[in-house]
Amino acid sequence: MNSERQVPFFCPYCGEENLRPASAEAGTWECRACARGFSLTFVGVTRPQRHHPAARSTS
Ligand SMILES: [Zn+2]
Repeated sequence: MNSERQVPFFCPYCGEENLRPASAEAGTWECRACARGFSLTFVGVTRPQRHHPAARSTS
């Protein structure tokens, strides 16, 4: 899973679309509207409808 190429469409703080990469570091973005910098991190696939996602062993 390629977690280094997540592209935000909206600033999570002000909702503007005026985003650009903050630096050469992958996953870091800055909003030109509110001047906030942030990074995106993939934390895993979530499955909200499962009650016990870790209960089943898929070996
Ligand atoms: Zn913003």
